[in-house]
Amino acid sequence: MGIAESIAAYRPANVGSLCATCKALESLSPKDREALTTAMENPNMPGTALTRILNDEGFSIGVSAFARHRRGECVGRRGSQ
Ligand SMILES: [Zn+2]
Repeated sequence: MGIAESIAAYRPANVGSLCATCKALESLSPKDREALTTAMENPNMPGTALTRILNDEGFSIGVSAFARHRRGECVGRRGSQ
């Protein structure tokens, strides 16, 4: 495949999809979602601790991706606030 075809065929992975943290929030129970949202707004709650808790619950979320979501820079939150 040539460069032009490769570029034409390329689809950025994140366009139109939610980040892993957004997806996790969507699938949580209202009680868990509330707790996680509150924790994310607490500057004293380390992202590494929250990521570990989510990973322990079976959500595959990286620390940097979680931090991006927390800062409101993930795809899913863009324009939704
Ligand atoms: Zn997100």
